[in-house]
Amino acid sequence: MSKKPTNEEHCSFCGRPASQAGMLLAGLNGYICQDCSAQAEKIFKENGQQPQASKFEISNSDIPKPVEIKNFLDQYVIGQDMAKRVLSVAVYNHYKRLKYNSEHDDKNDVEIEKSNIVMVGETGTGKTLLARTIARLLKVPFCIADATTLTEAGYVGDDVENVLVRLLQAANYDVAACERGIVFIDEIDKIARKSENTSITRDVSGEGVQQALLKLLEGALVSVPPEGGRKHPEQKLITINTRNILFICGGAFDGIERAIASRLNSNVIGFKGDETRAELDRDNMLQYVQPMDLKKFGLIPELVGRFPVLTALQPLDRDALRRILTEPKNALVKQYQELFRMDDVTLDIPAETLDLVVDRAVKYHLGARGLRSIMEGIMTDLMFDLPSLAKGSTFTLSPDIATSKMKL
Ligand code: ADP
Repeated sequence: MSKKPTNEEHCSFCGRPASQAGMLLAGLNGYICQDCSAQAEKIFKENGQQPQASKFEISNSDIPKPVEIKNFLDQYVIGQDMAKRVLSVAVYNHYKRLKYNSEHDDKNDVEIEKSNIVMVGETGTGKTLLARTIARLLKVPFCIADATTLTEAGYVGDDVENVLVRLLQAANYDVAACERGIVFIDEIDKIARKSENTSITRDVSGEGVQQALLKLLEGALVSVPPEGGRKHPEQKLITINTRNILFICGGAFDGIERAIASRLNSNVIGFKGDETRAELDRDNMLQYVQPMDLKKFGLIPELVGRFPVLTALQPLDRDALRRILTEPKNALVKQYQELFRMDDVTLDIPAETLDLVVDRAVKYHLGARGLRSIMEGIMTDLMFDLPSLAKGSTFTLSPDIATSKMKL
């Protein structure tokens, strides 16, 4: 078939140009005219196929209440009550906003603004876990991006806008659903500028990324290439309105305690005196974090201003680490027991062995992340021999066996 020497768009199904077929709807790699789409619908109906409801359609009964969200989080995440409550309310409000704003288009109506969130907490305390767990529950598209991979447009790395591409992919390219989604950006602290005083010669890269991010947070029409990567002139772009997208960021903000402490100390002096100072929980200064500390750390004020909700995660103590081993729905011990069960062997891990693992994690300051590597170190050898163990037997992982297998 010879191609017509014209740049006019054609229906990819019947081949008619737009001048004959009328309006064409654009897909990822082609177009469809009204006649062909009507024909397609008829064929689907004749074959008993109902049009598929979007899995992102939200009805009132779908909106989980804060208590329900928190209860769900409790099944997977140990402790971190404050962060769980804050997140539960934020997600609940996000749904309410979506509902309210869709019902109140009138310019005179109150517009409920979104409350983007920053979670500050040491690495391995559960920030990403909280975000991932929330994603399981949600009826809105959700994606996780890593701030360290983001760069300003034109530099090597991921354009900030590619965060939206990921959300669009999570929404199965349903643009309306994407525009109501939630984005979790990890390691937001890594794009801080290194000194609070702006300098044109030093470390402007992080600031450029922050500026680019700010644009998304403020609510903008952003054109993205549907398959990600760099934009180029001939590429088809999809426009996404970020006004209703909720952004949750996480970061360890290493060293921010110093800024918090110096702020609190200078506040205390000449105010209430030593009395208040003594009440401070020096081992967990993060709990006192305020937006100005993030600014001091190197986030630009405009960006800080776009995150009205700020919450801190607690460092995990011995007791929390011990609980993490066994209590969450997908706790490490449960996972290993399941692996053994598949070979018809019961895995028994006595409390003393678990205490030993926790001791190791605490001794080497490995936190929750360390629990996995310590357990993996012990279990790898054992799982090598697992298929040869007698079916129906019980294997007890005594403290002695565990000690002999620990590589650390
Ligand atoms: P962060 O994002 O804060 O650096 P992660 O959420 O990635 O930390 O945590 C690393 C791993 O440690 C998780 O996969 C999880 O297994 C475990 N973990 C961390 N914090 C908790 C917690 N509060 N409850 C249960 N497991 C946790």
